[in-house]
Amino acid sequence: MELNICPYCGNEMQKGTLPNETHPYWLPDGKNSPPFRFVVPKAGLRLALEYSGPFGHHAKAFYCPNCEIVIATTNVSQKTSEKENTP
Ligand SMILES: [Zn+2]
Repeated sequence: MELNICPYCGNEMQKGTLPNETHPYWLPDGKNSPPFRFVVPKAGLRLALEYSGPFGHHAKAFYCPNCEIVIATTNVSQKTSEKENTP
């Protein structure tokens, strides 16, 4: 998903990444992260990656300098389709 226009102010967003050693994920309030940082918990939503390799994982993200906000997309739809394919 490309996010060229900020949904809050309508300005042009800048495309970039959130570099991380492990697969970055979003965790809802009330859920704890596991003690092993390389494990994505069940409640965690994996962020969509722009790059994954020897230099780590780079989640795709868009930045609005006007609102000073970063918006990242997740892999939720891929996760759903994987479940649908499971017998
Ligand atoms: Zn904005």
